[in-house]
Amino acid sequence: MRHLIIGNSAAGTAAAEAIRERDPAARVTMLSKDTAFFSRCQLHLVASGRRSSAKTRFVPRDWAQRHGIEVRLGVEVTGIDAHQKQVLCSNGEILPYDRLLLSTGASSLMPPIAGMEGPGVFGLRNLEDAEGICGQIMGCKNVVVIGAGLVGCELAEALIKASHTSVSIIEMAPYPLPLQLEQHTGARMRQLMGEHGINMICGDSVSAIERNAAGNPCAVALKSGRILSADLVVCAAGVRPNIDLFAPLGDIGRRGIPIDEGCRTSVTDIYAAGDVTESCDNTLGRVMPSAIWPAARRQGRVAGINMSGGSEALTDHTGLKTSAVLCGIPLVSLGPIFDLNPAWQKQIYEHTDSRGRLCTKVCYTQSDGSLAATVLWGDVSLAGLYAEAIVKKRSVGDLSPGIVPDYRLQAVG
Ligand SMILES: Cc1cc2nc3c(=O)[nH]c(=O)nc-3n(C[C@H](O)[C@H](O)[C@H](O)COP(=O)(O)OP(=O)(O)OC[C@H]3O[C@@H](n4cnc5c(N)ncnc54)[C@H](O)[C@@H]3O)c2cc1C
Repeated sequence: MRHLIIGNSAAGTAAAEAIRERDPAARVTMLSKDTAFFSRCQLHLVASGRRSSAKTRFVPRDWAQRHGIEVRLGVEVTGIDAHQKQVLCSNGEILPYDRLLLSTGASSLMPPIAGMEGPGVFGLRNLEDAEGICGQIMGCKNVVVIGAGLVGCELAEALIKASHTSVSIIEMAPYPLPLQLEQHTGARMRQLMGEHGINMICGDSVSAIERNAAGNPCAVALKSGRILSADLVVCAAGVRPNIDLFAPLGDIGRRGIPIDEGCRTSVTDIYAAGDVTESCDNTLGRVMPSAIWPAARRQGRVAGINMSGGSEALTDHTGLKTSAVLCGIPLVSLGPIFDLNPAWQKQIYEHTDSRGRLCTKVCYTQSDGSLAATVLWGDVSLAGLYAEAIVKKRSVGDLSPGIVPDYRLQAVG
């Protein structure tokens, strides 16, 4: 059996390992236009010069050899012939397959704003982006980051820590991390980032990037009329799935390649996993992308098992889980914080921990008492239990009667 995997990141590597576990004799070939194995989750550290590109490698040096995977890096797949069961590569090679996995991920979304194209404006998705930012940051006075999602906030914090540059973030929502935080914690994060020296501008958006005579960015114009000096701009305004290879062949959803519980696409013997897909999120019961590393690993594993003749399904699948440490605060966000049902009851619990830090839990519960969504700020020690309660639609107390996690907290809202 010949397995071909496109992509060498979270989903692709998990699939390759799963195939090899089940089928020692299978031929497994991995193709990627990336020239290295690297964790995208660490790109903000590379961009700020705090970590070398080499240190972001997430598989051991002998990974391919150990698993018997033929890896070809720096090779772009330019087309798929699903009838002949073969792929066409940028180097002119044509490679046959019996089973194909698309784990092509996503690319930075660069909105069509005047001045967006050209030098000095970056996305943050690849090593080249991160190395490009790093190469310019030391000569910069003003950086503007578009979008205060997780990528934008982590980058802004890393840049402010590592350089003498002023850093501004522009966010359309009224507070940063609008997908992960609600009003209470969002307002607190906005203030905290300000205290850390980041110029956080919320409720506004970029209308144009202005360039000087040399063609480099010199300012960013906002819808409100404000003008910010900027000699480097990073666009962290979301991603778009890399669906182009599959689009001529099979069904494409609103936000990715639709897959079933076994990570099968609508085309026989073609599977898909990771950020390129959309699938049913068990927390929300809705089809959506699950653009986080652990979900891509899980989908890759399920795809790999099924490609090699097994029978595995995505269960308790959700991308609505974020954990991060921002401005020194551990944070966990679980469930559809960006799409709250007004019927859910909201409670905010706060306590001060032994280090004097204010810890907050924001809990949204349904009428039957089950947990629907939560934000943990500061104390994230019970995150696993909260996550399980949300996916299983239970209350935290039901799952673990021995633990009454909020007993020592004071309900403040
Ligand atoms: C800056 C940043 C920070 C992040 N932080 C976190 C975090 O803290 N926690 C978290 O859970 N997630 C985080 N994420 C998201 C996480 O990185 C992704 O969910 C994960 O990388 C998805 O893995 P994937 O395998 O689906 O695709 P990707 O990682 O996007 O990889 C896609 C692969 O496909 C290859 N490819 C694409 N098209 C072709 C082609 N035509 N031919 C050949 N190869 C091709 C690419 O070269 C690449 O190897 C972050 C992402 C970014 C960008």
